[in-house]
Amino acid sequence: MADAAASLVCEPSAGDRADVPWRSYPAGRVRHPSPHIFEFTPESLGDWCESGGKGTGGERGCAMPRFRAKQILDWVYAKGITDPSAMTNLSKADRTRLSSITFLSGFVVREQRASDDTRKLLIQWHEAQSAKVGGRQTGVALPMLNANEIHGVPLDARRQTECVMIPADRDEAGGADNGAVSTVYKRRTACISSQVGCPVGCRFCASGLGGLDGNLSPGRIVEQVYRLARLLDSPGEPGTGRITNVVFMGMGEPLSNFAAVTHAVRTLAAPWGMGISARKITISTVGLPKAIERLANELDLPVTLALSLHAPNDAIRRELIPWAEYTTIADLLDACWLWFNKTGREITLEYILLRGVNDRPEHARELARVAKSLRANVNLIRYNEVGGLPFGRPEDDDVLTFQSVLRQAGVNSHIRASRGRDIAAACGQLRHEKAPAPIA
Ligand code: SF4
Repeated sequence: MADAAASLVCEPSAGDRADVPWRSYPAGRVRHPSPHIFEFTPESLGDWCESGGKGTGGERGCAMPRFRAKQILDWVYAKGITDPSAMTNLSKADRTRLSSITFLSGFVVREQRASDDTRKLLIQWHEAQSAKVGGRQTGVALPMLNANEIHGVPLDARRQTECVMIPADRDEAGGADNGAVSTVYKRRTACISSQVGCPVGCRFCASGLGGLDGNLSPGRIVEQVYRLARLLDSPGEPGTGRITNVVFMGMGEPLSNFAAVTHAVRTLAAPWGMGISARKITISTVGLPKAIERLANELDLPVTLALSLHAPNDAIRRELIPWAEYTTIADLLDACWLWFNKTGREITLEYILLRGVNDRPEHARELARVAKSLRANVNLIRYNEVGGLPFGRPEDDDVLTFQSVLRQAGVNSHIRASRGRDIAAACGQLRHEKAPAPIA
């Protein structure tokens, strides 16, 4: 378990560094105080049980039988329980021993629900010291001192990330008996963050406004999906809510936190874990050719890769995405071909339409050439305006014209429905709002 403890904060790989200029950042800001349940596999948790948590903050000589690992993970993933005191098939002594594992590693600063049932959580992750203030986080209700504190922990936007549950495919035929979101919608997508802030700093994005504050650990990546699933639980029935799809389209560039993201993906897809089909897990990248190559070679799961292109040519791309200084679209296409040849899985191009910047018919014609060279589908995303940033949402007519130019050129494209616009749906927006109203 010493290895697991060491991997709690994942550094960018040498390959990633070769792509972009890395600057140092305070990794300790987002370090775990103790091993996180969402980072264990049945095997590693079995080892932890047998060793009595040796080397990870547990007490020596307090070993548990190995089969406890399966019971504990069953409580967490199948039953939606993260409070050890509620794990009734464990002995009282073993429940106490679990105090050296972190079950939930942060607290919800703010929760929002949009009129279209989209749900958004702003989570603040504990520092090593502050975790002790909030106890083991679950079920702890300490007095709130003022609007800038929760559980006595000062609110700190530099330790906060956002995640969103987006429901779709309303089930009109049935299943809506109890009105729970999980029965009303067939598809329930978790849009999650991989980093605190973002190092890329796209000009149109709220997440990159303050730069990067740290990488999220694998456990914290999985915890976001777990927390969103709990929003879908039927009343009084923890564990019944299910996330069907995951997209890494929240804060951060997933491939610059490679080890943590791939670790988390394995847990999300594992039958003993979140049990989400790997094909329904999308990793969206702004484009790191070496990391795309590494992902193709190392991740043995059929995930979907989406390339956030956002521009039809290198000149516009460099204006919008600072990291485009280090790669050309041609480099990215080479990496995407390598991905396709290795995995057999097609790539989707993501394209945010910004009024007057990249939404003209001539841009669509250029984009069509790029997409056709890759045989890629294009997802068109209408920009959600961010206060203080000089970009506008495109006109509806321009969006339709853009799509029809793509289609006439033989490119399959979809206009992504805007969801949750009434709850600051653009990634990173909520974190930058002042004086959030605490809810838990
Ligand atoms: S769009 Fe994505 S890559 Fe760009 S700054 Fe925002 S989170 Fe980072």
